Amino acid sequence: SEKIRIGIVGYGNLGRGVALALWQNPDMELVGIFTRRAPADIDAPDASTPVLPVDGLTDRRDDIDVLILCGGSKEDLPEQGPALAAHFSTVDSFDTHARIPEYFEAVDGPARAAGTTALISGGWDPGMFSINRLYGEALLPDGETYTFWGKGLSQGHSDAVRRVPGVAGGVQYTVPSDVAVDAVRSGSRPELSTREKHRRECYVVLADGADAAEVEQAIVTMPHYFADYDTEVHFISAAELGRDHGAMPHGGFVIRSGTTGAGNAQVVEYRLQLQSNPEFTASVLVAYARAVHRLNRRGQVGAVTVLDVPPVLLSPKSPETLRAELL
Ligand code: NDP
Repeated sequence: SEKIRIGIVGYGNLGRGVALALWQNPDMELVGIFTRRAPADIDAPDASTPVLPVDGLTDRRDDIDVLILCGGSKEDLPEQGPALAAHFSTVDSFDTHARIPEYFEAVDGPARAAGTTALISGGWDPGMFSINRLYGEALLPDGETYTFWGKGLSQGHSDAVRRVPGVAGGVQYTVPSDVAVDAVRSGSRPELSTREKHRRECYVVLADGADAAEVEQAIVTMPHYFADYDTEVHFISAAELGRDHGAMPHGGFVIRSGTTGAGNAQVVEYRLQLQSNPEFTASVLVAYARAVHRLNRRGQVGAVTVLDVPPVLLSPKSPETLRAELL
């Protein structure tokens, strides 16, 4: 059968991850990488992959089945998502949780009008975690859902640390509290405050002449980002920052703790432990690109989320094979 032809839009961490993930999926092929920057400035994953300006993309309708949109959720996707869904089936990882209903509507209209299928908010949270929250609620209606994140590098909080005057560089890790996780796993259904669930660890390089105590105070009292958490600030050298904090690990748990029948406790857990957040997110998007292509062929058009996609469509294997191997 013919390969699913994929285009990547935007080539940052996630875009690089998608190119790598496609090599592990022989039923798909990478047609090209489309960027807003000068193509010559982009380090292509291999010599045979064309890197092209995103402006010419709409001329390529006939040779691309699905575009994987790898732009940022804040500035890029709100513009690119609806515009590109008017021409192509798409997959993206829009992760501004509060804005997802509004983004869904913005993509749904153009996709329906064009007969394309647009999966929004793929990845792991939103994404795989959302599916597991749904399973938890549906299977254990008398219960409580808990999501813990980390240990992981948070891009938004790292940016906030780097904006503090006197900070030359730094990263922030979100760390789930072991005490809170153990309490949830025990089935006791604790009520947990924000401060009890996660703590925050910052690794900071001070600018020349900056005062460590002042910088620490500015970080730990920062509203929204740090004030509601127990935050540790560790001062390190620029060399240590480069050596020890260049990776992008992340992960977490979704736990549903419920009670059934005669009062029996039932605890269900889904766990991710990721050495590379963007590479895992990219792997999820690639599997959903396969599903989107199949949905579109079946005539299901418009915006969809991971909650709408039958799991069987994610696999390169046939339903018959999956029934024999996995049931
Ligand atoms: P990046 O900042 O690395 O890339 C975003 C865009 O910025 C790229 O598509 C690229 O577009 C542009 N860009 C990349 N590098 C440069 C550069 N050096 N100079 C100028 N522009 C550049 O973001 P990520 O790839 O790390 O993440 C993308 C989004 O993925 C995040 O905003 C987040 O919303 C989402 N995400 C979702 C997850 C989920 O679970 N749902 C998990 C992880 C991430 P262009 O090539 O056109 O210039």
